[in-house]
Order: sequence, then C-alpha cells, then structure tokens
Amino acid sequence: MTKIGFIGLGHMGAPMVRNLLKHQHDVYIYDAVPAAMMALTDAGAIPAQSLKTVAQHAEVFITMLPSGENVAEICTGASGLFKLAQPGSLFIDSSSIAVDKARELHQLAARAGIQMLDAPVSGGTGGAEAGTLTFMVGGGEAHFNRAKPILECMGKKIVHMGAAGNGQATKISNNLILGISMIAVAEGMTLGKKLGIDPKKLFEICSNASAQCWSLNNNCPVPDILPNVPSSHDYQAGFTSAMMLKDLKLSQLAAQTVSAVTPLGAEATALYTLLNNLGHGSLDFSAIIKLIEAK
Ligand code: NAD
Repeated sequence: MTKIGFIGLGHMGAPMVRNLLKHQHDVYIYDAVPAAMMALTDAGAIPAQSLKTVAQHAEVFITMLPSGENVAEICTGASGLFKLAQPGSLFIDSSSIAVDKARELHQLAARAGIQMLDAPVSGGTGGAEAGTLTFMVGGGEAHFNRAKPILECMGKKIVHMGAAGNGQATKISNNLILGISMIAVAEGMTLGKKLGIDPKKLFEICSNASAQCWSLNNNCPVPDILPNVPSSHDYQAGFTSAMMLKDLKLSQLAAQTVSAVTPLGAEATALYTLLNNLGHGSLDFSAIIKLIEAK
C-alpha cells in the first residue's frame, strides 16, 4: 500500500483515482475545483485543502492536468511540489504536455532530488474507468520499475519508452495519428451517407474491413451506431476537441524541432482550430464530423 498524491480529477483523473483505491492505496486528492474532490471521497479518497497537505502525506505524486503550464505551476511554483515533496519522492506526470516542457521539468525535478517520469496515457475515459490505459513512460529505468506496480493499477500496457520526454514524444505521435484518423472517418462516413448508404451498414463493413481504426471502431462519430460513445450522447466528452487541438498544436511544434513533415497534421490542426472557434471546444473530438457534414 502506497501513499499517493493525485492532482487533477477531471475526465481522466477521477476514474484513475478510483482504480488506485480499488488496489488499496491511500490516495490524497487535490483539484482546483473542490466539487471534483467531493465526488471521490465516497470511494475512500482523502481530500486535501492544499498541495502542502498532499506533500506532507504522499511519497508518490501523479498529475493529470490539462496543460504543461498547469503541470509547471503545480511543480515549480513558489509553493509547488518540487519544493514541498520529500527528496526521493516519485513524481509521475500523466498529462499530455510538450516534449520540451517535460524534459525541462525532468531537469528541475532532478535538482530537487525528485524522481520524475513523464507517463502520458492512451485509452480515453473508457480505458481510465476500466483500468486498461496504455502508459508510455519516459525517464530513468529505476524510476520506471518503482512506478510500474502503481501504473498497473490503472493500465494494462505499461511501456518504458526510454529517456526523459520520450513518453510525451510517443503520445504526441499517437495523437497526431488519432486526430487525422478521426477526420478521415468523418469524411468517409459522410461521403457514404451522401451517396445513399445506410450509415449502420457502412459501419458494419468499414469497421471489419481495411478502414478499421480506433476512431471508427471505438469512437464512431456518427450518432446511434455505437451506444456508449460520445456521438450517441450529443458529443459529450470523452476527449474534448480543445484537448485534441492542444495535442495537434504540440505535435506541430515538436515536428518543427526535428524538421518532420506533417501536411495532414497541419490540415487537422486547422480543422480543429475552426471547430474550437465555432464554440465546440468542450465537445468530444468526434464532433469534427459536424464541420465535415456542413461543408
Ligand atoms: P479535464 O479538464 O477533464 O480535467 C483536468 C482537471 O485538472 C480538472 O478537474 C481541473 O479542475 C484540474 N486542474 C486544472 N488546473 C489545476 C491546477 N492548477 N491545480 C489543480 N487542479 C487543476 O482533463 P482530462 O480530460 O482529464 O485530461 C487530463 C490530461 O489527460 C490532459 O493533458 C489530456 O490531454 C490527457 N488525456 C485525456 C484523455 C481523455 O480522453 N480525456 C485521454 C488521454 C489523455
């Protein structure tokens, strides 16, 4: 049983905490929104009024926050975790943030005697609830070995990707593919429908044929084909369009640093920017089909 401090209790963080509790860990929770903490106390999580309280009790910290700026604020602020946590503590950032920012945080953590890993996830809210997330982890091997049994409470595939920042580099590459593939699915499903094909029959074929992919088979953007996906519930997220845009922008920044060519990534970034500018940032990223259908 490990004393874990968990910061960021949103779509992903809350179910991840529930799975840590199921494995009998003591989980001290903190979120900027107090209501997010109250929702987890019934399950046995211990709400903390401040980061200081979390740091006093925990030996392992996990952050699941929207952006790199949020993570930096929690870690390096005047009363941040890197100052408050005991040297030797393990800090696991599972947020999706910029590769460069993650590497910078690794350096600052090392200076504070904190063992850091970047460990972003794939699998969405469904994977977070089921405890079947994929963790892609960057950082020292000894730190990885220490973290693995904890990550196994929340995920089923835990892979050490190598040095600091490599988890984020993997995640950004994955989400570049995901953003592009969702647009491809939206285009194909919309084309078939406009050509007079029943969307359910089109899904039956494509999801078993060479078009199959996560965006189609697990998060179909056409409503009422799959029952438990955002499109069948007014595109309630899920993984928001704002988060997808954030990750696509990070992929484009990362691509520039290594001169990688990503023309479809640039187009996907433009389409998700448009979707967000139309006020749909809080909808699931499968709502991109609204743009495609309207064109
Ligand atoms: P979310 O917006 O639902 O939750 C974020 C939580 O962090 C909120 O409860 C918010 O109040 C809290 N928060 C923000 N700033 C804070 C601060 N300074 N101090 C304390 N709490 C703070 O986000 P999410 O969907 O859970 O995503 C979290 C991270 O996981 C993101 O980086 C996202 O890209 C990544 N991710 C999300 C999904 C998904 O399907 N939602 C999948 C994979 C990865």
